[in-house]
Amino acid sequence: MRRISILGATGSIGGSTLDLVRRNRADWQVAALTAQTNVADLAALAREFSAEMAVIGDEAQLPALREALAGSGVTAAGGPAALIEAAQCPADLVVAAIVGCAGLAPTMAAIERGAAVALANKEALVSAGSVMTAAVARHGATLLPMDSEHNAIFQCLAGNELSDVRSITLTASGGPLREWSAAQLDAASPAQAVAHPNWSMGAKISVDSATMFNKGLELIEAHHLFPIPLDALKIVVHPQSVIHSLVEYRDGSSLAQLGPSDMRVPIASCLAWPARMETPMAPLDLAALGQLTFFAPDEVRFPATRLAREAAEAGGAAPAVLNAANEIAVGAFLAGQIKFTRIAPLVSETLASLDLARPVTLDDVFAVDQAARARAAHLLERC
Ligand code: NDP
Repeated sequence: MRRISILGATGSIGGSTLDLVRRNRADWQVAALTAQTNVADLAALAREFSAEMAVIGDEAQLPALREALAGSGVTAAGGPAALIEAAQCPADLVVAAIVGCAGLAPTMAAIERGAAVALANKEALVSAGSVMTAAVARHGATLLPMDSEHNAIFQCLAGNELSDVRSITLTASGGPLREWSAAQLDAASPAQAVAHPNWSMGAKISVDSATMFNKGLELIEAHHLFPIPLDALKIVVHPQSVIHSLVEYRDGSSLAQLGPSDMRVPIASCLAWPARMETPMAPLDLAALGQLTFFAPDEVRFPATRLAREAAEAGGAAPAVLNAANEIAVGAFLAGQIKFTRIAPLVSETLASLDLARPVTLDDVFAVDQAARARAAHLLERC
């Protein structure tokens, strides 16, 4: 029996992970589960899986969590320090599935314990970059990519040398607004932006998918996970989301990973790694699919991938600033404060107005993140 902790257990990735654990109860002991505000779901999951510890990030909700867990034997805790404690609780696998840079501190705490971390929380790696990868090496931790594209690349690299790689191509569905004109994008509502055609995901990543910031963040994520030159990292739009990414080798062979657009596939790959496990997915039926299509990204209507590539090239604090400004902009869009087409300009303006000196320590990363949030919020008020 292996021990698992899930940071962000009440979210989309948390739910898909627990679905697989539910189907394989004899294989897993749940150590810690966390959420931010959703006491009811957290308590229900902690009871169902007999978790040792349930942590609510919003400390004001701790009394409600204690009440919901009364008599269950599950230890209840709350607040940022308790999230760190959950991440450091002994476990064979820690699933990092908090959304946004809020997941950085707990993810780093798990890494500093030398844990095996299945990383869905791309914003943490984008913001901390080499601070995180250096910590992984220093503490002998293992980072398993759970994001579907990076998990695909990880699988396509198995048994090969990175030095033999000519290029890596990240596929992008293009999101629900892929074919919209500039005028239509200007009027896109939050409900339209989160209505992803292929994937069922949390609200923030769904908006990122619609703006293509998701692919931009993934480009930076790939740059840290698979260190090849930036110009060897490519993006192609593939609306069917069947091919999850490709690796091209110097002999002209390209290896791709295919599968249904269900996060339980890459999650299962991480849970069972280096072995394989059963999932409830129907077999891929290529004849039924008929056609797979591919397009170059349109960086005029969707400038996010260009901004992310520029941030990756600039290095230093630029990726953390890009991520923080995007989090503020997405929050404002979801709250109905700005238009869809204002998200990318707000990120660009924030990048242009801050010092982008390289963060060396984790505290530097937090400082950059805070400064970028404050600047983006200020720009937001002005507009
Ligand atoms: P959700 O919004 O569905 O879930 C987020 C989880 O994080 C919830 O458990 C939430 O708790 C918790 N949370 C939110 N804010 C905080 C905070 N400030 N501090 C601590 N915990 C917090 O997100 P997703 O599951 O969609 O995404 C999670 C991560 O995985 C993201 O980084 C995303 O980019 C990445 N990812 C997601 C994919 C997907 O298919 N969903 C695919 C690939 C990557 P509560 O419920 O209480 O709010």
